[in-house]
Amino acid sequence: MDIDTSSSQTTKKEVLQKERRASSDSVYDTFLQCLTHRAQPSDHISDIVYSQANPSFANVLGSYIRNCRFNSSSTLKPLVIVTPTQESHVQAAVLGSKDLGVHLKIRSGGHDFEGISYISDDAFFILDMFNLRSIEVDIKEETAWVQAGATLGELYYRIWEKSKVHGFPGGVCRTVGVGGHLSGAGYGNMLRKYGLSVDNVLDAKMVDVQGRTLDRKAMGEDLFWAIIGGGGASFGVILAYQIKLVPVPEKVTVFRVEKTLDQNATDLVYKWQFVAPGTDPGLFMRLVLQPVTSKTQKGQKTLGASVVALFLGNSDQLLAITDKELPEMGLKKENCTEMSWIESVLWWDGFDEGTIPPLETLLSRDYPINFLKRKSDYVQSPISKANLDLLWKKMIELGNVGLMFNPYGGRMSEIPASATPFPHRAGNLFKIQYFINWRDDDPELEKNYLAQIRSLYSYTTPFVSKNPRGAYLNYRDLDIGTSTNGKNSYEEGRVYGVKYFNDNFERLVKVKTAVDPNNFFRNEQSILPLPK
Ligand SMILES: Cc1cc2nc3c(=O)[nH]c(=O)nc-3n(C[C@H](O)[C@H](O)[C@H](O)COP(=O)(O)OP(=O)(O)OC[C@H]3O[C@@H](n4cnc5c(N)ncnc54)[C@H](O)[C@@H]3O)c2cc1C
Repeated sequence: MDIDTSSSQTTKKEVLQKERRASSDSVYDTFLQCLTHRAQPSDHISDIVYSQANPSFANVLGSYIRNCRFNSSSTLKPLVIVTPTQESHVQAAVLGSKDLGVHLKIRSGGHDFEGISYISDDAFFILDMFNLRSIEVDIKEETAWVQAGATLGELYYRIWEKSKVHGFPGGVCRTVGVGGHLSGAGYGNMLRKYGLSVDNVLDAKMVDVQGRTLDRKAMGEDLFWAIIGGGGASFGVILAYQIKLVPVPEKVTVFRVEKTLDQNATDLVYKWQFVAPGTDPGLFMRLVLQPVTSKTQKGQKTLGASVVALFLGNSDQLLAITDKELPEMGLKKENCTEMSWIESVLWWDGFDEGTIPPLETLLSRDYPINFLKRKSDYVQSPISKANLDLLWKKMIELGNVGLMFNPYGGRMSEIPASATPFPHRAGNLFKIQYFINWRDDDPELEKNYLAQIRSLYSYTTPFVSKNPRGAYLNYRDLDIGTSTNGKNSYEEGRVYGVKYFNDNFERLVKVKTAVDPNNFFRNEQSILPLPK
C-alpha cells in the first residue's frame, strides 16, 4: 500500500522553516561579529550579510535561482547569505562558518540543475559570489583572469571587446557562472576543436578550509587538478581562474536543419553517429530529438530531429564537408549563416538570425527560468536503426522528454582521461542530455514529468556506457546517488563518484582527504574524505 507522506513532509518543512527564521537573527549577530573580526577592512560588513529579516533577503536569494523547482515557499532557506565584494570577505566567511559549525553552500551563477548551491536540509549559510565578477583579458599573452561570479556571457563579451579573433570554449548559456561551470569541467560548441573549458585553464585562486588564499603554485598540482573538473565545492571556494584564450576565425557558420520521421530522420540520426564524432574538429553538430506534432498525419505525434551546428570556417568549406560526409542532412547554402563568433554565441543562446540583439545582451543577467530536470549518459557504440525506432516509439509514448546528442571526438579523444577529473574522453562517441522543462507550478505535473525522464533513462540502459554508467557532473542529477555526509557516507559517495569521475574518483578522494579531512566543504554529491 502506498502511504501519502507529502502532507507530513510539508508540516515538517514548515516547522523547520519557522525554527530557521527564529535562529536566523541570533546567528546573524554572531556571524557578523566573526566577519567583522576577521575581514580586512572590516567596515560596512553588515552591507554584505543578509539575515532572513532583511527586506532584501528574498530578492538576493531569488536572483540566482535558475530552476523554479527550488523556488517554492516550502524550499528550506539559508539562515544567512553573505555576498563578498573582496577576497578577505570570503576568507572570513569560511572561518566564521567553521567557528559557528554552520554548513556553508557556495553559489556563483546558480545554474546547478538540482539547486544544491542554494538549498540544504540542514541549517546553512550561502556564500554568494555574484559580486566577484572582474575579468582581465590580456590579448598579448592570449590569457584572461576571470572571477568566479562572472557569467560566461560577460567573459565572451570582454574577450570580444579586446579581439575579434579570440574566444573561449565554454558553455552555450550566457548566464551560467564561471565558478560552477569551470570547476565542473564545462563544455560548449568548440569542444571538438579545443576540448573542455578546463583543458584551457592555466591557474586558479581559491580559499581553502584554513582560510588561506592559494594559487596553483601554492596549492600544488594535485589540488589544482581536482578543482578543474572535480567540483570546486568539495575542496574550497574558487575565487578566480586564469584561462587560455583560443583562436576563432573572423567569420563562423551556423545552421539548423530539422527532419521528422517521414523525412528520414532515422537515417540521418543513424549516420550522424558515425560522422559527427569523426568529422573536422571545427564542426560541432548537436542533435536535438523531441516528440513533435506531425505536419502530415493529423493528430499524430512524430519524432523531430534537429541538427544545430557551429563551424569554425565559411559556408563553402562547410558544405564541402557535409555534402560528402552527411548527405542525409540535405544541408544547403541557404540553411547556413555566416556571422562573427560573438554573434554566434547569441544565436546559440536562442536568438535567430535577424533577431540577434545588441551584443551588450551578453552582459545581462536576466534569463527566463523554468522548472527543469536533466540527466546524462555517454554512448560508446552506435545505436542500431532498429533500436532507434524503438527509442522514438518510447519517446512519443512518453510525450515530453527530449534528448540532446553532443558529439565528442576531435580534441576530446586526444586528451588522456586522467588529465583532469573529467574522464569521458577517447572511446565516447557522444554525450546524451535528457531534458524536460515546464512552466506551471503543479506538483502532479512535476511528478509526471520526473517519472517520464526517469523512465526514458531506464529504457536507454542497453545503449549507453556501463560499469559504471557514466554521467556529467555539470548536469547534476541526484537520482544517481547522494551522500548524507554522515559517518558511513564514503561508500555512498563512491556510488555517484565513479559515475562522474570513473578511474579518477580515487585520486579525488586522496586530494580531499589531504586538504579537507573533516569534510567542511560538502554537499549532497561532494567527494568524501577517507574514513579516519
Ligand atoms: C540553462 C543552462 C544551460 C547550461 N548549459 C551548459 C553548457 O552549455 N555546458 C555545460 O557544460 N554546462 C551547462 N550547464 C550546466 C552548468 O555548467 C552547471 O550547472 C554549472 O555548475 C553552473 O555553474 P554556476 O556557477 O552557474 O552554478 P551554481 O549553482 O552557483 O554552482 C554549481 C556547483 O558549483 C559549486 N560552486 C559554484 N561556485 C563555486 C565557487 N566559487 N567555488 C566552489 N564551488 C562553487 C556550487 O556549490 C555547486 O555545487 C547549463 C545549465 C543551465 C541551467
